[in-house]
Amino acid sequence: MVVGAGPAGRALAAAAVTASLDVVVVDPDPDRAWTSTYAAFAHELAPEVPRTATMARPGVATRRGGTSWLADPYVVIDTARLQHSLRLDGVRLVRGRARTLSPTGVDVPGHGTVTGRVVVDARGALTTGRTVQTAYGVVLGRYEAEPLLARGDGLFMDWRPHHGADPGGPPTFCYVVPLDDERVLVEETSLAARPGLATAELRARLRHRLAHHGIAEAPDRPEERVRFALAVPLGRAQWAGRAPAVPRIGAAAPVVHPATGYSVAASLRLGPLLAAALADGADAVDLHGLIWPRSALATHALRLRGLRVLTSFGADETDRFFAAFFTLAPHHQRAYLCGRDHPGATMRAMAALLPRLDPDLRRTVPTRAMTRGWVSR
Ligand SMILES: Cc1cc2nc3c(=O)[nH]c(=O)nc-3n(C[C@H](O)[C@H](O)[C@H](O)COP(=O)(O)OP(=O)(O)OC[C@H]3O[C@@H](n4cnc5c(N)ncnc54)[C@H](O)[C@@H]3O)c2cc1C
Repeated sequence: MVVGAGPAGRALAAAAVTASLDVVVVDPDPDRAWTSTYAAFAHELAPEVPRTATMARPGVATRRGGTSWLADPYVVIDTARLQHSLRLDGVRLVRGRARTLSPTGVDVPGHGTVTGRVVVDARGALTTGRTVQTAYGVVLGRYEAEPLLARGDGLFMDWRPHHGADPGGPPTFCYVVPLDDERVLVEETSLAARPGLATAELRARLRHRLAHHGIAEAPDRPEERVRFALAVPLGRAQWAGRAPAVPRIGAAAPVVHPATGYSVAASLRLGPLLAAALADGADAVDLHGLIWPRSALATHALRLRGLRVLTSFGADETDRFFAAFFTLAPHHQRAYLCGRDHPGATMRAMAALLPRLDPDLRRTVPTRAMTRGWVSR
């Protein structure tokens, strides 16, 4: 039984049905069309994942106007085709909102208790009271977006302070990503903040930024609003390696990367892995072990330290930090930004960053990273 039919739940359900398992999916609206723009580093996706665009050399514009480059190509997923490709034919759909989940059943008002051999929680993440990533964006025509694309085929992050906001306020950057040959998404983004920035603030910053580049306002542009939790807490028992009663996948797990917010590529990889294990008779504890091997827990713990540092920064420190981060060798960038289960490489990337930071950050970053306690929300 998969509770939740977002990318994580659907990837598992589709793979489980392909593995000839009997699958139940519970979701209030399992056919709801996904509208979010999902993207990922190219090498994290299986070749069959449909895409609409590739940024071969994504740029990062620094606050002072320099440019760095990401090590890896970045792709925009064709969300509609991805959803369609994760087929639910043969799945029993229960159209309702699960109230309580137990290891062998789910209570769904109007449907009673629906039972199954293994229940998996893929309900996504609540954002209330947590460190969240927020963004507000609009879709521009390629020609219109030209001034923002001046530095290559897109900007993963544009930190130039063209948003007109108080330089001492919470830092935001613009995500400038071609969706296809004709459309470009420009999104004013707060990478991590608690509480998250309000949409009105992000919209005002984006308007200012577009005006700075001479891009006129237009009322009918498609919009995107982003708000999701970066650090869903893992309980003490899970940190100690014990499985919860009901294993969690996707943003609920959370397989969300604490620094980038990405989870879709990881969820698409986990779906077939978990389905194959279930077909071999795996139980909930086995599944949890596949979702959270010790190496993934250790990697996650390190990245939560990174998130703690990021959320402590003002705009200037953020800029100096990323200017140094994107000078890292490609294998270090990749180790920090991608994958979930290589703590040694993640640690080496962090160690390689330290000497690249300016003296002020070199002093403060380790202290802030090692402050007692976890970023647990
Ligand atoms: C606009 C936007 C853009 C994003 N861009 C990216 C990106 O580029 N790359 C990336 O990796 N990540 C991105 N993310 C972050 C993250 O990967 C997504 O939030 C992703 O949708 C998480 O997938 P999920 O399946 O875990 O959860 P969700 O997509 O949140 O799906 C949860 C499902 O559970 C269902 N549900 C909830 N409660 C219940 C209940 N009680 N009973 C039954 N069903 C329930 C919901 O109806 C929903 O269908 C983005 C997020 C947003 C909002």
